[in-house]
Amino acid sequence: MTKYVFVTGGVVSGLGKGITASSLALLLKSRGYKVFMQKFDPYINVDPGTMSPFQHGEVFVTADGTETDLDLGHYERFIDEELNYTSNITTGKIYSSVIEKERRGDYLGATVQIVPHITNEIKNKVYEAGSSSNADIVITEIGGTIGDIESQAFIESLRQIRNELGKENTLFVHTTLVPFIYGSNELKTKPTQHSVIELRGMGIQPDIIVCRTPVELESNIKDKISLFCSIPKENVIDSIDVKNIYQIPLNYYNQKMDEIVLNQFGLNINKSNLKEWENLVDTVNNLDKEIEISLVGKYVELHDAYISVVESLKHAGYFYKTKININWVDSEKLESKDNLDEIFKNSSGIIVPGGFGNRGIEGKIKAIEYARRNKIPYLGLCLGLQLAVIEFARNVCGITGASSTEFNELCPEPVIDLMANQKSIVNMGGTLRLGNYECHIKKNTLAYKSYNEEFILERHRHRYEVNNNYREILEKKGLVFSGINDKSDLVEIIEYPQHPYFIACQFHPEFKSRPTKPHPLFKSFIKASIDYKKK
Ligand code: GLN
Repeated sequence: MTKYVFVTGGVVSGLGKGITASSLALLLKSRGYKVFMQKFDPYINVDPGTMSPFQHGEVFVTADGTETDLDLGHYERFIDEELNYTSNITTGKIYSSVIEKERRGDYLGATVQIVPHITNEIKNKVYEAGSSSNADIVITEIGGTIGDIESQAFIESLRQIRNELGKENTLFVHTTLVPFIYGSNELKTKPTQHSVIELRGMGIQPDIIVCRTPVELESNIKDKISLFCSIPKENVIDSIDVKNIYQIPLNYYNQKMDEIVLNQFGLNINKSNLKEWENLVDTVNNLDKEIEISLVGKYVELHDAYISVVESLKHAGYFYKTKININWVDSEKLESKDNLDEIFKNSSGIIVPGGFGNRGIEGKIKAIEYARRNKIPYLGLCLGLQLAVIEFARNVCGITGASSTEFNELCPEPVIDLMANQKSIVNMGGTLRLGNYECHIKKNTLAYKSYNEEFILERHRHRYEVNNNYREILEKKGLVFSGINDKSDLVEIIEYPQHPYFIACQFHPEFKSRPTKPHPLFKSFIKASIDYKKK
């Protein structure tokens, strides 16, 4: 039978609940258990797909094409398991489903209410994550902070699940803040106490309390939390601020957090295998080279908008023992600049990640032109491919009116255009080309050299495509279409062999990179950037 761990947060947001959930999952997996993860987001959007990156940060896409919260990126990177549509549940999803059932007449005349109809729907989602994944343990993180109006129905559902399954099958981890007060120079437990009171008011007694703290918790602080929150002292875990997030699972391991969970569940405490992870922490702490990579985007003020891209760059850096410094370049600001030398003077590589809409587009095109002409390694992701094609069409093929119908519907030379089956779509939510599609890689190309595979599966999130009517002229001028989706004859990867490293893909490789398994494209990009710096 599947066991369930619920991770809630108190006091303030941004405590690293997602990392705590992922770290615990990693520890349990490393003891041989099959783990699955899930996140509840209390907002009313059905998914974050329609939200601005400034509101929400990156939209992470799972292999099955679900647009999800960026925390799922942490989960996948920590536990290296593919998650799916059961892994991210929003209030919007729950209500749509209940209202659909009501319209269908499924409730047989009942008055449809938060309890039991909404709560039953939530409980079903928890159980579905367990049954469909066949996991030994499912870890569910509840977004938001205890006390938020939005998350109340979720909390009530978890209370009911504990009631149904008992303490031996459910466990509550509550993460809080223990601040350090300068002047009196002491740690304060009161916010934690209040947050636990709030949680208890909703019928939930936590089993483990994880305290985010700037310094290690002294024994008397743990005594206090143990006494006032009614949990054993060893179940008070400290989560001390770290420079390297991969250290966190090891910190929890040292405090036996996974053993506490397994004991409560009556599961064997198998021997833990954390070798690979320990090596990773060691590598990250001992990087002996560094390079700068310019990331050109329009959401650069909010680094979370590009979190998987940045992580993927770092992963490839770890492989080459190299620290990656990101030069954040606001694409809109490039538009008025004549000379880009100053901006890119220290960069060994340029990356243009995904994006939507036409703000900042011309600045990105300028950056791509700069990379192409100056032979600086270039990696384009999704929009970064589309703009590389536009740049090439304009500046190499002489198609001056080249653009995408996304930026100008009446554009005279739509080298990037809507796919036929996208033209009739009216709803914006959930209708992009999403999730895994196959890509066939041509031999003797940079793409093949990077992947060393002929067929790959990569995750997508886009509406527009390279217009096949322009392929011939682009090819004639030297652009190579090195990856194609055979089924629908769509361009997946382009490259420019007259340049030492110029490649772009229509998919998002950043969703598949793992700290211990860097993605092939990021790996070859970082290698090329290191070589560029040497020269
Ligand atoms: N806006 C482009 C499209 O919809 C690119 C999307 C992206 O970069 N994720 O096709």
